[in-house]
Amino acid sequence: MIITASPIKECDKRIEVLTKERGRISAFARGARKPNCVLSACTVPFTFGKFTFYEGRNAYNLVSGEIDTYFEEITTDYEALCYASYFAEMVQYLAGEGMEAAEELLLMYVTMRALQHKLLPLPLVRVIFEMRLMMIEGEGLELFGCLRCGNKDAYNVYLSQGGLLCAKCAAKQGKYAGEYPIKLSADAKYTLQYILTSPLEKLYAFTVTDRVLKELQQFMKSYLARYLPHKFKTLDFIV
Ligand SMILES: [Zn+2]
Repeated sequence: MIITASPIKECDKRIEVLTKERGRISAFARGARKPNCVLSACTVPFTFGKFTFYEGRNAYNLVSGEIDTYFEEITTDYEALCYASYFAEMVQYLAGEGMEAAEELLLMYVTMRALQHKLLPLPLVRVIFEMRLMMIEGEGLELFGCLRCGNKDAYNVYLSQGGLLCAKCAAKQGKYAGEYPIKLSADAKYTLQYILTSPLEKLYAFTVTDRVLKELQQFMKSYLARYLPHKFKTLDFIV
């Protein structure tokens, strides 16, 4: 999937591509800004397909592209485009270079489809995407039971510990006393569990009440502030 494309020289593009086999790669698409160039259509952001590269000494060069899905509706819908750009920046930041990224790629694909078909409110799409991507990148939280004893009846998330602690275990471990846990409602906890375990094809097949959505947004804010302290510039366009 094309993640970003920026103009370079007179008529070329520099592209970032998320690939199944080699993660994120940068490449040049020569002549891609000439309207009649075969590379011009397949280097539009979020285009999903099969790409062939020539591996030069210092960079990849795009030779050809076979478009599978072109998410045109996203590029013409300003709000959806802002969210898609943020998701692209986040995956670009987190996915490694030269490492397999099949999960990230599938996540991007189903997320773009959700944006294209306007399946869910955009802020909910964002919560789902962020939560699932963090898990894929190994930064997930334990939200199924207490980290110490496995008790399922735990609702307090201690970010410093990486997940839930039941009241008993938290009391025993006095050293967390200084940390205010985030108390999840049963609905929010269940939703987060669903996001962590659902098959990717069914990830965007539910919705929540406004109250739960607000709670999830607040939760993600604290979670990402601690686990992903990075300023994404595309976030400036999301209100
Ligand atoms: Zn416990």
